[in-house]
Amino acid sequence: MKSDTKVTTLGRDPEANFGVVNPPVYHASTILFPSLEAYDAAQKIKTKNQMRYGRYGTPTTFALQDAIAELEGGYACFAVGSGAAAVLSVLMAFTKAGDHVLCVDSAYGPTRQACNTILKRYGVETTYYDPAIGAGIADLIRPNTTLCMMESPGSVTFEVQDVPAIAAACQARGVATAIDNTWATPLYFRPLEHGVDVSIMAATKYIVGHSDVMMGVISVRTQAIYDAVRPTVDTLAAPSGPDDQYLAMRGLRTMALRLKQHHQTGLTLARWFQAQPEVTRVMHPALPGDPSHSLWQRDFSGASGLFGFVMKPVARKALAALIDDLELFGLGASWGGFESLILPQDIRAGRTAAPWTDPGQIVRIHAGLEAPEDLIADLERGFARLRKAVAAG
Ligand SMILES: *Cc1c(COP(=O)(O)O)cnc(C)c1O
Repeated sequence: MKSDTKVTTLGRDPEANFGVVNPPVYHASTILFPSLEAYDAAQKIKTKNQMRYGRYGTPTTFALQDAIAELEGGYACFAVGSGAAAVLSVLMAFTKAGDHVLCVDSAYGPTRQACNTILKRYGVETTYYDPAIGAGIADLIRPNTTLCMMESPGSVTFEVQDVPAIAAACQARGVATAIDNTWATPLYFRPLEHGVDVSIMAATKYIVGHSDVMMGVISVRTQAIYDAVRPTVDTLAAPSGPDDQYLAMRGLRTMALRLKQHHQTGLTLARWFQAQPEVTRVMHPALPGDPSHSLWQRDFSGASGLFGFVMKPVARKALAALIDDLELFGLGASWGGFESLILPQDIRAGRTAAPWTDPGQIVRIHAGLEAPEDLIADLERGFARLRKAVAAG
């Protein structure tokens, strides 16, 4: 089945739910057992989708987790309370004091922060690597390296990694691999099929799709990896709630349709930015000529609506003239909802393996589901205000 079909059918079982189309919302902490024998049996069970206690999930949770695991092509999935909780759970599941982690330099800021603070406090060392490293990752693997963390394309600067090459090099040396797949979702990139062990997404973004829920999902390739990750996820106590799981499932139903529009509008806006004299560079892997374009073309089947551009250095006041009066682009964190966003960013302090030296202003755009003509008209007015502000000094 095509993924367009899968997102509309996965996780549903009307016959088990009085004919109701969608899986119901189960609110639960305590799960009652009819006998001591049944209770004892449930404590021993280590397979997925077992009712034991609310934190370990209910049928609402299992329906969503199974749907996402199927889309990712994995054995199982865990739905937790945020994307950041998903990342931290995976970092902690594969490390102990004395271990070494490889993390891509273009990782999501809080991923880097988790390595630099929490892992460090518990005696785990992190080496950041250039997103363009590819098979060269082998040179950075040490005897105590246990995990390689990828994110493709990278946060803010959108470098696509050579995931198959990195996964193969790590697998050859017994190093587990994980990737943040939030940008592409399994509809446009399937990391587990390239040998990656764990695929993480901030479901907060495209799965939920409506800017109203925090959630993270962790999909694992095999049962052995499931067994390795599960004790940490179960104990970190960051479960997602059933109403949020219901909303995530609702978001999933339209994700294929939404992503097609985000892809198209994102490219339309990216090309518009390329034509502006103030813009020195657009960072979007689906644009021909982008340094990541050939890898994107090889491994991905689409692009989402998030990309960035660099503009000539600009005074904060002139930048405000561009941004403050935009009607359709909101100023705020997160993305993946139905609405367009704009966010100036500064990454210079957050890159160590491949230092960022461009003095220009980085701006991140999320192309929402509004008509592209209206978005461009809004941006044209914004750039006119910018030019006026620059001319006025
Ligand atoms: C937003 C985001 C996260 C974190 O997800 P939250 O649900 O906000 O905690 C992780 N990775 C990437 C790439 C993100 O954009």
